[in-house]
Amino acid sequence: MSTNVIAFHYTLTDNSGTVLDSSRGAEPLAFLAGHSQIIPGLELALLEMKVGDKKKVHVLAKDAYGEKEEDRMMSVPRTQFPKDLDVKIGDRFRPDANDHHAPVFVVTSVNDKEVVLDGNHPLAGKDLDFDVELMEIRLATEEEQAHGHVHGAGGHHH
Ligand SMILES: [Zn+2]
Repeated sequence: MSTNVIAFHYTLTDNSGTVLDSSRGAEPLAFLAGHSQIIPGLELALLEMKVGDKKKVHVLAKDAYGEKEEDRMMSVPRTQFPKDLDVKIGDRFRPDANDHHAPVFVVTSVNDKEVVLDGNHPLAGKDLDFDVELMEIRLATEEEQAHGHVHGAGGHHH
């Protein structure tokens, strides 16, 4: 079974039209089709495009980074943070510094007694708009299929 590598340029905006991210000015983003490397709603749209196609893709939150989950919010006593640490809204913490896949928690409120942390993806609960241009479709090499990711420009380098 052959797998495609698809490379595309994108500009991501939220529903207020603010640009959140873009590949323009850098290498296009390349992914291995069918490996859940990009959000499902975007992958489905790209799979139907040809090289050179441009498209605006509206992705609902549930097909992007999911809805915000209440159980990923937690309240931690202020005493669990070092006394001299100035904890501010927007600060980011990773509970287990050794686990790079552990979620990052963002401080959403803080007072003398407690710190409220949100472990949802920053884009959870948001519908996203992508402006995409399909740049390249090629067959994945055997090595890429074995590794489950793309090598070379726009992919992993190793
Ligand atoms: Zn590899």
